[in-house]
Amino acid sequence: MSRRAGGLSIGVNFNPNNACNWRCIYCQVPDLQRGNAPEMDFSLLEQELRDFLAYVQQGSFFADFNVEPSQQVIKDIAISGNGESTSLKQFDRAVNLIGTIATETGVLPSSKFVLISNGSLIHQTQVQAGLKALNSFGGELWFKLDSATEQGRKLINNTGQSQAKLIEHLTIASRLCTTRLQTCMLHYQNAWSDSEKQAYLDLLKQLKQQQIAIKDVMLYSVARQSFQPEATQLTSATLVELQQFAEQIQALGYPVSVSP
Ligand code: SF4
Repeated sequence: MSRRAGGLSIGVNFNPNNACNWRCIYCQVPDLQRGNAPEMDFSLLEQELRDFLAYVQQGSFFADFNVEPSQQVIKDIAISGNGESTSLKQFDRAVNLIGTIATETGVLPSSKFVLISNGSLIHQTQVQAGLKALNSFGGELWFKLDSATEQGRKLINNTGQSQAKLIEHLTIASRLCTTRLQTCMLHYQNAWSDSEKQAYLDLLKQLKQQQIAIKDVMLYSVARQSFQPEATQLTSATLVELQQFAEQIQALGYPVSVSP
């Protein structure tokens, strides 16, 4: 149940092996390891999703969990794993299957269909096919962007993603489906220093100039415990800080939402 969303958010986890190609310092996945999603058992995915939706739509899910009437609604289906979901080999097939079941059962189009991703594998054909499929179901991509510099992404996400790759992947994503940026502001060494903030704003300006369509920016901070070695050294950004930065982003013409 998601209070913020105002109802039920159904997460589909392609990474039960806790494997990701990044290692973000705020990651909440326990025993995170480097790697890809394991092979998908598509008949099991179909059976689990259909069974769970039946439990919610015709069964006693809301009663079993004492959900208040105003919250008894499916707000979204989110592909959001304990790792990078797009590392699944047949990613496009999985998106199509989830979208088809959600449509048949009437969850879509009234609820949202969301892919939460670090955006690092968008050069791959099956990921692009998956984004097209997501778009055909009216879905959206939440593209992780925690720093606009290569040094910042190395520090926060432990990735060597180059600036050119980042721009290329944002360009491809925005052409294939609705793309939103999700950005975690936090304090750790020189993460989110003034120069980092300026680099982020400069990147947003550049995206506008290059007509790379970003729907909006979702700013948040670390609300839950990190399971990474840096956990004790992380400090959340304050609400005031998030709001001040949100105003600067808005001034560039981007809608922004803030959740501390
Ligand atoms: S991309 Fe997501 S799953 Fe992967 S390390 Fe970062 S927060 Fe964890």
